[in-house]
Amino acid sequence: MSTTPPLGSPQRPVRVAVVGAGPAGFFTAEALLKRDAPVFSVDLVERLPTPFGLVRAGVAPDHQKIKGVTKTFEKTAKSDRFRFIGNVEVGKDVSAAELAAHYDQVVYAVGSAVDRRLGIPGEELRDCHPATAFVGWYNAHPDFRDFPFDLSATRAIVVGVGNVALDIARVLLRSPEELAKTDIAGQALEQLRTSRVREVVVVARRGPAQAAFTPSELRDIAALAGVAVKLDTAAVEADAEHLDGIEPQARKNVELMLSLVRAAPHDAERTLRLEFWASPVEVLGDGRDRVRGLRLERTEPVRGPDGVKARGTGQHFELDAGLVFRSIGYFGSPLPGVPFDAKAGIIPNVDGRVTESPGGAVRKATYAVGWIRRGPLGVIGTNKADGVAVAERMVEDVPGLMAASDAARSHAAVDALLASRKLRVTSYAAWSAIDAVEVAAGQDRGKVREKFTSVEEMMNALLRAAPPREPD
Ligand code: NAP
Repeated sequence: MSTTPPLGSPQRPVRVAVVGAGPAGFFTAEALLKRDAPVFSVDLVERLPTPFGLVRAGVAPDHQKIKGVTKTFEKTAKSDRFRFIGNVEVGKDVSAAELAAHYDQVVYAVGSAVDRRLGIPGEELRDCHPATAFVGWYNAHPDFRDFPFDLSATRAIVVGVGNVALDIARVLLRSPEELAKTDIAGQALEQLRTSRVREVVVVARRGPAQAAFTPSELRDIAALAGVAVKLDTAAVEADAEHLDGIEPQARKNVELMLSLVRAAPHDAERTLRLEFWASPVEVLGDGRDRVRGLRLERTEPVRGPDGVKARGTGQHFELDAGLVFRSIGYFGSPLPGVPFDAKAGIIPNVDGRVTESPGGAVRKATYAVGWIRRGPLGVIGTNKADGVAVAERMVEDVPGLMAASDAARSHAAVDALLASRKLRVTSYAAWSAIDAVEVAAGQDRGKVREKFTSVEEMMNALLRAAPPREPD
């Protein structure tokens, strides 16, 4: 008489679907696969044919060191209990309910893909863009390949003073010759070569001590050849007088800014200007749908129990510019069949266990991790701790799972489902083939890699690498 092996045994691992192959998804997979007991197997389901999420499509091309984290992800992918299921969109190609039927546990690691809006007049003008689109464009994300960026103006404005704002400023100001060696998208590089942008103004509604960027990001720009950093000396010196008790990062930022305002001025072709205490009120158009500038209100600090807030002074001013980016943070978007907190832009959860609504009942065997769990804050490494913590919750929940309907919870059943949808699924081996073609194409051009910018190009490259067999 045959007995069913217990759930979590090597013969019957806990079968997990992780949705989203960015850092949060990979770190969760790593934490699960590292365990000896219970034993897990992981299918990493990803909308794009390629893995690595924001490491591939968010981290700036001139930050190759940060992208080195993919080496860790590659190790995870080598596990024989790991499968990559690329080019499959959950909510469209397969439903959340189908995943729940085919896996013992499902983890959503889908990130926060959309941009937050300023909610001011003129935001819809042609040259006012979300930061997400510019970042996706220079990183060859297929969704942003044809985004119409016009770099013919001499001044660009970036609203918001986080790391993404400084990434955008740096890419606009850095010499194209330096970018040419990276994995920047080919068409973005060509456009940047003819860019006329010479000044980027980053606008902050609060002061130097409240800047959201990390010191290394500003230091990177200050170190660029031919680039000057201009700061409001009075604002920086005012904050430098109140360093006691402020957070270490804020202190380092202010000290760095103080050293920059005190440094001897040098000739520079291009300038980064940080405009503190200013809040945008209108993107100004030229009457023909193009941007001609930004109208701002001067703000002033209000100190309260929650820290320093900005208050409008009623005093307005205008900055001419042909390009405005809003870089005020990312926001999650809902997946069909998965609970969503529209106010916070996250999947509602308690310590990673998904709830039907904020504060509602826990949805069995369903988890969220990364930005879609906690909001779009933190660096790549922050997701490692998050992945480990959510994996712990999943381990705790294993005894309450039913090892029923094993026939549905098998690789074969998932493969049959995908085949029935006639999807062009990419495996990790397929990604490795795409990777090899990109790296080789990059070598020909003296670049780290030349990325494909469309799904079609990737699938065609796969066909060339392994053409389908002719019928006998
Ligand atoms: P962020 O760090 O949250 O910064 C958003 C900025 O937008 C803040 O300066 C915020 O100012 C401002 N803002 C928000 N609403 C605004 C409004 N209505 N008007 C004007 N300004 C407004 O967001 P992010 O830059 O998108 O970065 C997201 C996360 O990714 C961060 O954790 C970041 O560190 C990380 N990241 C890291 C790197 C890196 O390590 N190299 C690179 C890119 C991104 P207030 O503070 O006044 O709200």
